[in-house]
Order: sequence, then structure tokens, then C-alpha cells
Amino acid sequence: MPLFSSIFSELESQVSSFLTETSCPSLQQTEELLLEGVEESLSLANLARLLQLGAAPDAEEQRELFRHFVRQHWSPTVMYLRYIAPIYVSSFCIDACPYCNFSANRRTAIRRRLSLEELEREVRQVLERDMRVIELVYATDPEFTTDLLVRYVAKVVELLDGEPGTGVLLCTEYLTNEAYLALRDAGLWGIVQWDETLDRRAYRRWHSPSPQKREFELRMDNHDRAMAAGLEVATGALFGLADFRYDVLMQIAKARHLAEQYGRGPFVFGTARLKPIAGQNLHLQTEVSDGAYETSLLVYKLAMPNAGRWLQTRETFELNLKNLLDGDVFTYRCGEVRPGGYQASEKQLKGGQFGVNELERDYVESKLAERNVRISYAWINPEKPVYSALPAVGCRKTQAGHTL
Ligand code: SF4
Repeated sequence: MPLFSSIFSELESQVSSFLTETSCPSLQQTEELLLEGVEESLSLANLARLLQLGAAPDAEEQRELFRHFVRQHWSPTVMYLRYIAPIYVSSFCIDACPYCNFSANRRTAIRRRLSLEELEREVRQVLERDMRVIELVYATDPEFTTDLLVRYVAKVVELLDGEPGTGVLLCTEYLTNEAYLALRDAGLWGIVQWDETLDRRAYRRWHSPSPQKREFELRMDNHDRAMAAGLEVATGALFGLADFRYDVLMQIAKARHLAEQYGRGPFVFGTARLKPIAGQNLHLQTEVSDGAYETSLLVYKLAMPNAGRWLQTRETFELNLKNLLDGDVFTYRCGEVRPGGYQASEKQLKGGQFGVNELERDYVESKLAERNVRISYAWINPEKPVYSALPAVGCRKTQAGHTL
């Protein structure tokens, strides 16, 4: 099967030229594009036009129309969000991303690696809170060989005890297809990997000092390797590392590639946005404004209606409330984004990977209930493909007959 890397160079130049040639659509043109977008999959060139709404300072009217249009189409009377509980397993990292507190260059970072017994205690904390879909999060920790990852996944699967709706996800650096086959056999349901950016020059600027992560080409095919092993995938860019318009279009191109090749696309787009770290602002030219961020979320929905967007605790709850739609993934606690965080007694987020807004369940659920939004804590259905578990509104068929 062709991998994403086999079409990357062509896509890269196409997307770059669309962005050079595109212009911001008027109100009427925006409406025409949106109507076309629910009838058939919009081309990348047309999606590039809609993304201009996030870059233009005077496009608030068009953005409002876009938001209203998407809500009309993808927010039923009662909406369901899918909850994922991240459990951090290790903060030891050989890589050196400048935007991360776990970077190998941060000599004062607090490092911890959970033993299997400690992992079990964390999982029990999460289960007590009714959360049944668990993401194991690792930095690039060389201690975690495939065999060890298999043991950790198998332990969580055992603790979930075959309860309906439960599942385990894994967030590590890229792995081999053989590793994913072994992890799938241990009961893994899917992987989470953000591509960070698919702008290769920006990627090199950010990641060339990282011994493992610098492998741009190897990394970009990781979703292919996982899907070929039968796993589900979350993909996404880290907004702020490069031009957000380029990153959104490349993520959509990748999602469409995966849907064509494997009969199912990613179940969710990650929407992480770079934030100041340890009180320091990165002052980037590629900083993504709220308008650009919200436009990106809308474009993802229009382009791939059956993939959710993962609304992040890095954003404020108010912003997430404004943007959420049926089928989105939502997380309000991240175990303080560090190993052992669910058992921590102290309130401050000391030693976490990055800054987050952790919230109390009662508060979140009451605010969501005011909007007829519920959280599903056990939403995985292994009997059905991911897409059939989600609302059928807005499904698209590709020429090859795949549902997008
Ligand atoms: S983002 Fe991941 S790979 Fe990069 S420094 Fe942080 S933990 Fe390591």
C-alpha cells in the first residue's frame, strides 16, 4: 500500500501554491463554499480559501457565518463528547523539543517513570472517576522497549476487565509495524501522534537536535504503520510551529490518504496550540490567534465530518465550550500532565509537560448540561468501525467508495 510519504512531495508543492494563490472569500463566496462543502468533499484549494478567514483581520462576519453553518449541520439536540483520560507513564526524554518541559535540555525537570505497580494505582484512580478510555503517554524514553510497552498495555487491558466501551490508546514516539502488531495483540485499540508540523523546513528548525524525533520521513508514515496493524489513530498538528493554514491542509490530506488506504480515517484531529512555557513566551511569527484557531477547527469539521476534534486542556474551558461539536473528544483532567499526577495531593501543576487548565468534573458536567451536552466515558465499540459509531450526518463517499 502506498504510504503518505509517497505522495508527500507532490502535496507539499500543491498546498504551498494554493496558499500563495488564494484570497479571502467574501460573505457570499463563503456561503457558496459552505453549501458546496456539505454536498461533496471540498478540494484542498477551496479549503485553503476558507482558511483565509482565520488569517484575515476583517473576516469576522464570514467566520460567524461559518460557525453558525457548522453548528446547524453538526450539533444535534443532545451532543455527546468522547472522554479520554491521559495517564503519563514517563517523563524521561532523549529528545529536545524547545516547547516542552520534558525536553532533555531541561536539566532541572522532574523525571519519573512509573513501575507496573504505580501504573496500576494510577489506573485505579482513573477508574474510580468512571473514565474507561485510557491513553498511556510516554516521552521518548529508551527504557520502554516494545516488550515493556506490551506489558504496560496488557496491564491496563486487564484492569479494564473487558467492560463494554473501554479501550487503551498509546502516545509514544514512532514505532515499527511489528511493534504495533504486538501491541494490538496485547489489546491496544489505537495510537495518538501529533505530526507537530508537516512543514519540513519548520520541522527541521524545531527538531533537528532531537536524536529520535528528527526523523521527519519515518515519523510521517507512523499513522500508516499503525493503521496497517489494525489500530485506530489520532493525528494532528501542534499549531504555532508553522503556518497554520499549511498544517491544517496537510492534516486533511493525510486523513484523506488514510481513509482511502485503510477504509477508515483518523477518529480525531488533535488541536494543540503552542503556549508560553515556564512563563516564557516564544514570540513566534507563526503564533496562531483565536480567530485562526477556531477557523481551523471549523475547516476540519467541514472537510472530515466524521472525525472529531480533540479539545484541549491547554485552552480555556470558555473557548472549548464555544467550539465543541457532537463527537468531539474532550478531556478536563490530564493527571497534571506528569507521571503519578492522579494520586498527587498538591494542587499545583509542578513538573508537568506543559501548562493546562485542569477542571473539576461536577463543574464541567453542569456547564455542559446547560447546553445539552453529555460526556461518554466508555465510547469504544470494537465490533464496529470507528465511523459507524458516530453520527451519520454529512458522510461523504470518495471515488473509491470510502466514507470520509
Ligand atoms: S514533546 Fe515529546 S519528544 Fe519532545 S521533548 Fe517533550 S516529551 Fe520529549
